[in-house]
Amino acid sequence: MKSRVRFAPSPTGMLHLGGARTALFNYLFARRTGGDFLLRIEDTDRARFQAEALEDITKSLQWLGLTWDEGVMKGGDCGPYFQSERLDIYKKYVDELLEKGHAYKCYCSEEELAAQREEAKEKGLSVQGYDGRCSRLTKEQIEKYEAEGRVPTVRFKMPKTGTTSFTDAIRGLVTYQNDQQTDFIILKADGYPTYHLANIVDDHLMGITHVMRGDEWISSTPKHICLYNAFGWTPPVFAHLPVILKPGGGGKLSKRDGDVSVFQYKEKGYLPEALVNFLALLGWAYSEDQEIVTVDEMIKAFSLEHINKAGAQFHVEKLNWMNGEYIRKLTVEDLTERCWPYLIGAGLVCEGQDKSSLHYIMSLLQPRLVLLTDVVDMISYFLKDEIDYNEADVRKILKKEGVKENLAALRPVLESSDFTVESLDKDIHAFMAETELSPKKVLQPLRVAVTGRSCSPGMFETLFALGKEKVLKRVDYAIESLTNIEA
Ligand code: GLU
Repeated sequence: MKSRVRFAPSPTGMLHLGGARTALFNYLFARRTGGDFLLRIEDTDRARFQAEALEDITKSLQWLGLTWDEGVMKGGDCGPYFQSERLDIYKKYVDELLEKGHAYKCYCSEEELAAQREEAKEKGLSVQGYDGRCSRLTKEQIEKYEAEGRVPTVRFKMPKTGTTSFTDAIRGLVTYQNDQQTDFIILKADGYPTYHLANIVDDHLMGITHVMRGDEWISSTPKHICLYNAFGWTPPVFAHLPVILKPGGGGKLSKRDGDVSVFQYKEKGYLPEALVNFLALLGWAYSEDQEIVTVDEMIKAFSLEHINKAGAQFHVEKLNWMNGEYIRKLTVEDLTERCWPYLIGAGLVCEGQDKSSLHYIMSLLQPRLVLLTDVVDMISYFLKDEIDYNEADVRKILKKEGVKENLAALRPVLESSDFTVESLDKDIHAFMAETELSPKKVLQPLRVAVTGRSCSPGMFETLFALGKEKVLKRVDYAIESLTNIEA
């Protein structure tokens, strides 16, 4: 049987790393098994629906390259793929459960439910559940409530004794005590189904064979199993993915530790390839000695058996390292293209400008970039006329005995040089040999004078990229204004 998996986000917030990893694992599984990857939007919670979240989710998935075969924006035989457009379907299945006696209408109002919880608390009972009182209503009581115009919800009758078990593909046998379960709502008073009902009806009708989802859904699974049983349907295989932990292991990853939206990672200058690689290894033991893994390699190797039960620790340093590695792999044309929006944003280039004029500079920066956004600071002294001098570097390197004189002596060498990388290298080395000045005395001050800082790509390449005019102007400025030693 062809496998069918789905990513089923609720558009109540932006797509975060955990959701992106769930989507990725489903995608890899579908590609590995030659199955289908569906995108279904679970938008039945109208109070929490956010239109921006919907757009963010689909755009983030596209940016990550996680293309879906069927679902919203794509269509397919099992649509619609927005749950809010499937209300008639759910109604039909709710009616079926009512008819079979697996569900009942509950007329309790919000206030009454709150009062019941209060009462249970006073008696020292669990306040989580519902005591099932509406399942015992007489015909007369029901008629009375109906006549009052009360709009009921529908609750599913959970078994109250014994256990409900399922075999999770990652965790093995999972068992829940039924006396801990409550008769949960499947249809709300507003006519919308709850997550539990809509989710399993759709998984069934859409032919989903494997449900891979975040660990936080595991406690909902006994409810889902009981719903499948009530309909007489075979449940899919469940696989609950390990939780993503803070570095050091102290609990679930929070916003502060990096659990921000995928788009925020994009804005910070991460490459989608790097983020995908990083997410894939959060909980999946790909190999002991290989960390840079292409999507093709992932697809070839993906299997649920290799996903860990234990939580996966998030280390931003690892993500940064990976991002740098992926930056190194890009062609210079591609790198320039990807950096372009950040350069435009910083006002360093303008729309329509010839990108190829930056290729040489980009090739110098490529080994040094960690994030694409680093380019803005690193390229600034190449593109701007006025540069920012790092005060500490100026103090430490330029305001030193002899620097003014040495730069002044070097100036004519620069002026008469052919200014290719090779000639600069040759001419400056000849100058150092002749004057018996060390590279520390010549190259370091020169670097600070022309770039404003003590770290840059190779000196001769940097001088060449800057061009003679800029270099001489900055050397002159340094001689005049930056090398004076303060008393
Ligand atoms: N709509 C749920 C979510 O937002 C889906 C959970 C599931 O995959 O069953 O994550």
